[in-house]
Amino acid sequence: MSNQRIEITCSYCGEIAIKRKDNIVSARKLGSPDSCSRVCAQRLISNSKRIVSVEYLLSLTTKTDKGCFEWNRSLNPDGYAQISWSEKYGRRPVGVHKVIYELIYGASPKGMCVCHTCDNRKCINPEHLWLGTVAENNADMKQKGRWRRDWRPARHVGR
Ligand SMILES: [Zn+2]
Ligand SMILES: [Zn+2]
Repeated sequence: MSNQRIEITCSYCGEIAIKRKDNIVSARKLGSPDSCSRVCAQRLISNSKRIVSVEYLLSLTTKTDKGCFEWNRSLNPDGYAQISWSEKYGRRPVGVHKVIYELIYGASPKGMCVCHTCDNRKCINPEHLWLGTVAENNADMKQKGRWRRDWRPARHVGR
């Protein structure tokens, strides 16, 4: 049982790695984000002390033809840009689009979610983000044809 291995996604580089389950479980108990290597673990620690600014977040993106700023770092299982280091959320993984939205426009009220006009989950371009209720977001997706019978709500990014 102690040799059991699990697949993790590195919170720093986004690579998939196979790790010993007991190591990962104890690290998670301490609040450490998953990392593939010591190097990435060290970088995550220095990142957690870094001031997260709009400029800094945008510097980690690549601009697409459609004007999206696509996140170059780790994604959550639903494909949203995520970070595990920010002043407000600490090491708790949170959607980068939510962090950048809050840095610019202030905290999003409870029950609201930061949605994409571009439907690109990797995008954190503040101009492509709007604040909607969960119901509005679902209606928007339905209208854009992303609604399927087998659709299940995306695990909510952030909180
Ligand atoms: Zn890594
Ligand atoms: Zn976009």
